[in-house]
Amino acid sequence: METQGCNDRARTAYHQAVNTPSVAVNGRSYRWPERPLVVVCVDGCEPAYLERGIEAGAMPWMARVRDTGTYRVADCVIPSFTNPNNLSIVTGAPPAVHGIAGNYFWDPDTGAEVMMNDPKYLRCETILAAFSGAGARLAVVTAKDKLRRLLGHGMTGVCFSSEKADGETLAFVGRPLPSVYSADLSEFVFAAAVKLMERDAPDITYLSTTDYVQHKHAPGTPEANAFYRMMDGYLARLDALGATVALTADHGMNAKTDAAGAPRVVYLQDFVDAWLGAARARVILPITDPYVVHHGALGSFATVYLPDGVSAAEAGTRIGALAGIDVVLARPDAAARFELPPDRIGDLVVVSARDVTIGTSAARHDLSGLDAPLRSHGGIGEQRVPFVINRPTTVDPARRLRNFDLFDLALNSR
Ligand SMILES: [Zn+2]
Repeated sequence: METQGCNDRARTAYHQAVNTPSVAVNGRSYRWPERPLVVVCVDGCEPAYLERGIEAGAMPWMARVRDTGTYRVADCVIPSFTNPNNLSIVTGAPPAVHGIAGNYFWDPDTGAEVMMNDPKYLRCETILAAFSGAGARLAVVTAKDKLRRLLGHGMTGVCFSSEKADGETLAFVGRPLPSVYSADLSEFVFAAAVKLMERDAPDITYLSTTDYVQHKHAPGTPEANAFYRMMDGYLARLDALGATVALTADHGMNAKTDAAGAPRVVYLQDFVDAWLGAARARVILPITDPYVVHHGALGSFATVYLPDGVSAAEAGTRIGALAGIDVVLARPDAAARFELPPDRIGDLVVVSARDVTIGTSAARHDLSGLDAPLRSHGGIGEQRVPFVINRPTTVDPARRLRNFDLFDLALNSR
């Protein structure tokens, strides 16, 4: 248990800020926090959730920040999925640098399709680990356990998920273990952050929620506004405890249904099988994760490994002609445009239109768990995300912000 008093903590923070002017990582340099910094990645937070929440009066704290702080929209990285973007935010760099190009990928070294949750796939240090190594006190709380090992890699300090919280953590937060498919899973993250701020005032806290609510409920709906009202209350408490609160998202979220409410899907493995023969090309959906109930593994991004003798140009032309496909790029062009590691994507990258998803084979997607019209992400249509800091920062209004600029602006712009 932390026993240092508030004044001692403030003195220590000032001392460190003076004596440790900055921490360098991945080509950027970050100033030591003058006051506790809380960075929040709100999973699936399309900017309209905040706008509608403010309009409905559900987010009084956010309304104040919009008037007095930094309230912008930024671009996330493509694919607009959870793992690549969380790792971009905590490394300050695109996937070409950190290596996490999806939640899931085909590992050419082993010939196996695997989750990209293991820190062995991480190719650089995180900002969290760098500050931890320089003596800062760190706390990381994630909703889903799949991110915990990646986010916590190389750092010491508090690091846990609400999904796998142990008895001691449950007692500390004072809430029961939440279901993995619930808004409670995210509320637990915020409640833990307030407790940690009251007890330890960590120099840097990183929070990552789950998009359970956003997959089911559109901006402005009562369920969405209730979630954002809950979040707003906790952010206000962190603010009142003296923290710099900085918020962004890993990706946005859009409806992916037709007029009748049925999912719109291009089954890409079925298409290449019909063209080339069964299983000659391999379609990988990097949205795939162990929690498929709310999206059926349907997103707006796929990558395709072609068999020998099939040109990327011809395959790209054929796939690009399919209704609902937005962009098809060969590996070098996709790596350049989206700043992706070329060895972790296929011969083609395929992005579908805003209201369309890409599947493998119809038979391989179990949509029986979808109890609401499909909302998902992965494409360019979900690239716009909020970029919020609870105080003004000096940033050129014309500058294209990325979600992974958040640590930079929160720490360096004073
Ligand atoms: Zn996400």
